[in-house]
Amino acid sequence: MLQHLVDGLRELGRDISPAQIEMFELYRLELLRWNRYTNLTAITDPAQVELRHFLDSLTVLQALDTISPLESQLKMIDVGTGAGFPGIPLKVMLTDCHLVLLEATGKRVAFLTHIIDLLRLSGSEVVQGRAEDVAHDPTHRESYGLVVARAVAPLATLAELCLPFASMGSLFVALKKGELGEELYAAQNAVKMAGGGDTRVITVRLPQLADDRRLVCIRKVAASPDRLPRRPGIPSKRPL
Ligand code: SAH
Repeated sequence: MLQHLVDGLRELGRDISPAQIEMFELYRLELLRWNRYTNLTAITDPAQVELRHFLDSLTVLQALDTISPLESQLKMIDVGTGAGFPGIPLKVMLTDCHLVLLEATGKRVAFLTHIIDLLRLSGSEVVQGRAEDVAHDPTHRESYGLVVARAVAPLATLAELCLPFASMGSLFVALKKGELGEELYAAQNAVKMAGGGDTRVITVRLPQLADDRRLVCIRKVAASPDRLPRRPGIPSKRPL
């Protein structure tokens, strides 16, 4: 079962256990069941959930190879996780990591709490709030070895929202696709101001996914100034 996912992971050089496959099956079932009443995803074809949510989320594993010694005790936050992407698929594969799912809307938070419980994802928690606020909370600020985000905002906004969560020397990975030239250029200032170093783009090409995926990887090299991120809404209204 979940042959697309299994094949895609093999391309990425990763094995998946029967227990992990079962977790993904359950997750998909619940996602599509809840989606009938709650707006969680526009993707409703089961095969597409496997590819465009699960496998797509797991492309992040390609960026982790560069910091693999950390994988087991990694603390990871997924900013604007929605129905759990990419955070939950990554947690299923990186069993020992600690996962925080940050999401602003209550209905999605209810779904995430249900899934964590159902899949028995120990070492996982859901935080309801906006990144602009939560990033100033000392429990979360500069506390993560890996910060991930998919489909939340353009990189300039995302850098301001996400880099304050990253601890010194750790990694922020934004999941993107397609041509990024202008978006990267427009984000240069925000990345630098929020404490980011060089931006490295890893292209992931999988036969299972039509478009190339681009993992924008930014190392945290300086402390984020206290004033960042700015008030809710400002990082997207007036990018740095
Ligand atoms: N990452 C998921 C969801 C993308 S939709 C995926 O790729 O499928 C964007 C999600 O981010 C929404 O659920 C929205 O509520 C949340 N979001 C947007 N801005 C946010 C912010 N500033 N803080 C926290 N969550 C945010």
